[in-house]
Amino acid sequence: MSMQIIDAQFLESLPLPQPAEGSKEERGRVCIIGGSREVPGAVLLAALGAMRAGAGKLQIVTVESRAGALAVAMPEALVIDVPETPAGGLLCSPVASMASRWDSAHALLVGPGMVEEADGHEILKSLLDRTGEAVIVVDAGALPRITELGESLHRRTGRVIITPHAGEMANLLGVDKAAVETDPTLAASRLTEEFGLIVIMKGSQTIITAPEGIWRYEGGGVGLATSGSGDVLAGLVAGLAARGAEPVAAAMWGVFLHGEAGSQLAMKVGPLGFLAREIPDLIPNLMSEQP
Ligand code: AMP
Ligand code: MG
Repeated sequence: MSMQIIDAQFLESLPLPQPAEGSKEERGRVCIIGGSREVPGAVLLAALGAMRAGAGKLQIVTVESRAGALAVAMPEALVIDVPETPAGGLLCSPVASMASRWDSAHALLVGPGMVEEADGHEILKSLLDRTGEAVIVVDAGALPRITELGESLHRRTGRVIITPHAGEMANLLGVDKAAVETDPTLAASRLTEEFGLIVIMKGSQTIITAPEGIWRYEGGGVGLATSGSGDVLAGLVAGLAARGAEPVAAAMWGVFLHGEAGSQLAMKVGPLGFLAREIPDLIPNLMSEQP
C-alpha cells in the first residue's frame, strides 16, 4: 500500500466538519478517563486538546484525590471522581459500572496519566463493549491491555484509535524498541491488520495506519518530544472525532495540528523548552487557517 504525506495540501481533500448553527450538544461530547495520584495533569492536557479542537462538551473521570483540583483547573468539564487503588490509580469496577453514563459520548479517550497497576483491562473492556458507535482513543496507561481484547475489538462497530510511541508499541508487540524504530510502519500495520485499529505511531515522523491506507507526517520538531505532548495529541484526536470528523481524518488532522503548533512554538519560544500546555492555545487559529 502506498504511503501518502500529510500536509496542508493533502488535508484540503479532507475538510473538517464546520459547526452547524447548533448548540454545544451537537458539536460533540468527549469523555476522558484517566489520571492517577502521581500523574493528575495528563488528563488536563488532553482536556485542553479536546476543547481547543472544538468539541462541545467534556466529561472527565479521574481519581478522587485529584478530581477537585482538576475541576478547578478545567472549569469547562464535568468531573466524576472514582475511588483509587493503593497505588493511586483508578479503581476499575466503579469506572466499568458507570458505562451507561458514556452512552451520550461521541468520543472517549482512555489512558492519559493512568498507572498500570490500575489494571486497565476491565475499564477498556467495558468501554469497547458498551459504547457502540463512539470513537475510542487509547493512549499511555491503557495501551498495554488493548491486544488482550481482540474479541471485543472485532465485535465493535465504532472505530478505535491507538496512539503509541515506539516504546509502547514495542511492549504491545513484544519486540525491541529498536525494531519498532527501524520499521515503524511494519509495526503499526501489524496491529491494523490483526485488530482493524487506526494506529498513530508517534515519533520524529508519525505514521498512521488504518485499513483504509497508510500516511506519514514529517513536520513538528524535536521540541514536541516533551512531557505531556502526547496527551495533548490524544485529546486533539478525540475532540476532532467528537466534532464529527471521520476517525481516520481526526487522526490525520490531530497529528498535523499538533505538529504545526509545535513548529509555531519552536519559532516563537525556541526549538526546545516550550511546554505541552502551550500547544492547545494555538489550535483554533491553525484550524481556521486551513481549508
Ligand atoms: P509522547 O511521547 O506520548 O509524549 O508523544 C510525543 C509527541 O511528540 C508525539 O506526537 C511525537 O510524534 C512527537 N515528537 C516526538 N519527537 C519528535 C520529533 N523529533 N519531531 C517531531 N515530533 C516529535
Ligand atoms: Mg504519551
